Amino acid sequence: MTRHVAVLGAGTGGTVVANRLRRAHPQDELAITVVDQDDRHLYQPGLLFVPFGLAHPEDLVRPRRRQLRHGIEFREQPVDHVDIEARRVVLGDGSVLAYDALVVASGAVLVPEETEGLTGAGWMERVFTFYSLEGARALAGALAAFGGGRLVVNVVDMPIKCPVAPLEFCFLADWYFREHGIRDQVELVLATPLDGAFTKPVASARLGGMLGDKGITVVTEFNTGEVDGEHGRLIGYDGREIGFDLAVVVPLHGGAPYVGRSPGLGDELNFVPADEHTLQAKAAPEVFVIGDAANIPTSKAGSVTHFEGETVAANVAAFLEGKPLSPGFDGHANCFIETGFGKALLIDFNYDTEPLPGHYPTAFGLPLLKESRLNHLGKLMFESLYWHSLLPGHDIPGFGAEMPRAGKHLSHLSHLSHLSHLSQGGQP
Ligand SMILES: Cc1cc2nc3c(=O)[nH]c(=O)nc-3n(C[C@H](O)[C@H](O)[C@H](O)COP(=O)(O)OP(=O)(O)OC[C@H]3O[C@@H](n4cnc5c(N)ncnc54)[C@H](O)[C@@H]3O)c2cc1C
Repeated sequence: MTRHVAVLGAGTGGTVVANRLRRAHPQDELAITVVDQDDRHLYQPGLLFVPFGLAHPEDLVRPRRRQLRHGIEFREQPVDHVDIEARRVVLGDGSVLAYDALVVASGAVLVPEETEGLTGAGWMERVFTFYSLEGARALAGALAAFGGGRLVVNVVDMPIKCPVAPLEFCFLADWYFREHGIRDQVELVLATPLDGAFTKPVASARLGGMLGDKGITVVTEFNTGEVDGEHGRLIGYDGREIGFDLAVVVPLHGGAPYVGRSPGLGDELNFVPADEHTLQAKAAPEVFVIGDAANIPTSKAGSVTHFEGETVAANVAAFLEGKPLSPGFDGHANCFIETGFGKALLIDFNYDTEPLPGHYPTAFGLPLLKESRLNHLGKLMFESLYWHSLLPGHDIPGFGAEMPRAGKHLSHLSHLSHLSHLSQGGQP
């Protein structure tokens, strides 16, 4: 009997899972339908480079259908809602998709309209975001025309996709204005709701130090209540104000709105609660979740989504065969952090282990928690790897889903706890 898997979303996670399942199971055993509202797959990590003229927007987009293996049905339709009791998905045109197993892979959406004033006066004139293709493109023009003044990068609230991206933007802005010979006329400020530069204390101390060294001011625990684009002011809920000439805002994120229209599926932000190791949704045993759509305690990042793919594909198949699920996902995340001047830093961690120094994935690999040209090349090469290895769901030897320990300097833990201590008191 043919079983039917419906995958909602054909971004990173939906594509990886569908391709992995298709490779492992013949069509007469498993029918796979992937739904997305459009046919434009965006390589989101490339958005960081667009404002600085280091990437062209049109090069970041490819047709979704072409990323899916032969034998996967693609439906270009918005999901209207899921009826979990009836195991049906209702699409925007009213058609219905019945399923035996469902994979929610619909990512996170930006909700800038949830912040007072953000999309009002000044939006896309002196208040921008690089988290969308239109925003990144418009910001490129604004940066090129910027003659000096205060540029504030503001994270409205967590969670956000790729929590290091706002820091990378600061580092690249420092590089960009130096290249243009006006760095001394630009004040760079990062305003974040966190108590440091990043969510993990150890990396936060390291990154906070680097921001300080580059003359970038960090304003912590700033919860943006209002953006006044007309007068150039961010206003915090606690009454603090930060003036700006140019603001680069990372808006609030939520899960896809259809999740809220699907009783029992999501939380109050429309993310989908799931078991953090099996990725089975709390809503129902036949529902699984991958990537940014999930409410689990790891970063919303493409690397995480890719590492989850192995577990989700295996567990969908196990569920359909009545076998026990694998608790295989360990929270593994890794991020290249572009630091400007052709260098980058790499961090690698999971649910239990902080980012540690050493090398990835083995003692002879890329340096961890340390700036290097090799890491910058790794970040650039990642794009080709994304399209040609990660999305097709290939296993890359040495880069498995489980966090590697071999190259990590566990003996540095005491040194790192010192750094962590420093992060509590500001910049080292
Ligand atoms: C600026 C920026 C920089 C980043 N840099 C990095 C990085 O350097 N490294 C890294 O690992 N990650 C990075 N990321 C994060 C990474 O891109 C995401 O974590 C990853 O793409 C998540 O995959 P996903 O499948 O969960 O979501 P997505 O890839 O966003 O896919 C979700 C899909 O669901 C579809 N969808 C949503 N709602 C509906 C609906 N109602 N009906 C039909 N379809 C729907 C969407 O159209 C979309 O195609 C970055 C993100 C941004 C924004």
